[in-house]
Amino acid sequence: MSQRLIDAEHLRVSIYKKFKESGEPFFPKCRQEDVRLVDLEPTIDPVKHGHWAEYSNGVYYCSECHEEAYWDTDYGQQLFEYCPYCGAKMDEATDSTTPMLKHRGL
Ligand SMILES: [Zn+2]
Repeated sequence: MSQRLIDAEHLRVSIYKKFKESGEPFFPKCRQEDVRLVDLEPTIDPVKHGHWAEYSNGVYYCSECHEEAYWDTDYGQQLFEYCPYCGAKMDEATDSTTPMLKHRGL
């Protein structure tokens, strides 16, 4: 099942707005429960996407936080699936020849 991200604050406002439009004098208990349920829903951190970009000197860096890829003394620069500095998933499509994922020296 795919997830659909919605704006919880907007939903809360929509519930109150619908109540006001109804002309009812009191906010119904069931609607209060709806608003409470919105507040209790877990939040999802959006996944940040990036790619390994390459300086002209051959050094790779994260397209999101601009930190240089981790250097391993035995294997050289390591281009992981996720940026170890900002957590970006390195699966962003690019139109360059920059590798999407590459473990140098392995
Ligand atoms: Zn990064």
